[in-house]
Amino acid sequence: MKNETKILLHIVREKKIRRKDLEAIISVTPSTMTYLLDKLRDYIDVEEEASTLGKPPQVLSIAKKAWKILAINVGREKVRAVLYNAKGEELESFEHRVKKEDLSNEGINDVLKKTIEKFYDYDSIGIAFSGTINGEIVDSKILFLEGYDPVKSLQLKSLGVPYIIISDVEAIAAYESKTTGKSKVLVLNYGTGIGACYYEYHALFSRDEFKTIPFGHLYAGGNEKCYCGNVGCLETVASDYVIVKNYQNTNLNFIDFINREEEYWKTLKLVRSLHKTDQKMASELYKEVINHLAMYLGNTSILLGINEITLYGEGASSWLAAQLEEKINHLARNFSVSVKYGNVSDAVERGISLEAAINLIKRKLTR
Ligand SMILES: [Zn+2]
Repeated sequence: MKNETKILLHIVREKKIRRKDLEAIISVTPSTMTYLLDKLRDYIDVEEEASTLGKPPQVLSIAKKAWKILAINVGREKVRAVLYNAKGEELESFEHRVKKEDLSNEGINDVLKKTIEKFYDYDSIGIAFSGTINGEIVDSKILFLEGYDPVKSLQLKSLGVPYIIISDVEAIAAYESKTTGKSKVLVLNYGTGIGACYYEYHALFSRDEFKTIPFGHLYAGGNEKCYCGNVGCLETVASDYVIVKNYQNTNLNFIDFINREEEYWKTLKLVRSLHKTDQKMASELYKEVINHLAMYLGNTSILLGINEITLYGEGASSWLAAQLEEKINHLARNFSVSVKYGNVSDAVERGISLEAAINLIKRKLTR
């Protein structure tokens, strides 16, 4: 990796860094750094810290005009596109409410095409889908996408800028890792489905690792069929489906519920905020779900060697995060985990823009 690439990647991660510290990390002399910073002058701001003694230390940050990133978040409720400058400030945005007729490979492709056409003048693009990504192919039960190929269907190569295709949980994990400064991050996306992403930051010298974990389809027992084809998936015993089923006290089945989710939106909204008005009833309703999740999350924390989990998703709340944390740490002596509620509404867009900036630096700027 070239020194210029290392410098830019490091500043993107740290936001601000002293020139002296960066010289030590990259291991270059002050005069080499002067030469490198001159080459990167369009991308980096150099400020001087106030100092009473001697030469004031220099602090480096990414210049506002270094680049522009187009980040598009494709979710079940809306497609949201944001144009960011290199400081992460929103310049423009566009939103499309996703309708039932948009839910197919062709439908989502049309929405995305129209969304991208609204923007021009950006240096890198990133699209995140609520679903699973294999290479660049998207599958999503909730968006009705099957083998969707955005690179081909949207002709992304013809845009002439680098692009990335990631999942929404990956974007959140990237955002969490950067804002908390933690090198290992586990994000749990909780709602009617459950997904998770583990992100490991490997500094400058190798690729960062994303590992999307099909958490909802781990085996949890029981005899309920899942839409994935298995029986006894964690989602069938520990998701908002179970909460709705307990609340209505009826015989729902999971596949039916997922296919007709819209019919349950009202009930979902109600049960998700129940803890605000009736904590006792909420605790009773969520008991089974919390017990299951606590065991799986506790075991996962040991597998991954993590002590913090961030809870995102439509079914998440600070109440649920606190309940989970308490339960996990009571289950076993070797479980020691804090569960944080991630309530940043544009974490996906911000995570995409971060990954798209890294992709730009690696692929284009410093080649
Ligand atoms: Zn399943």
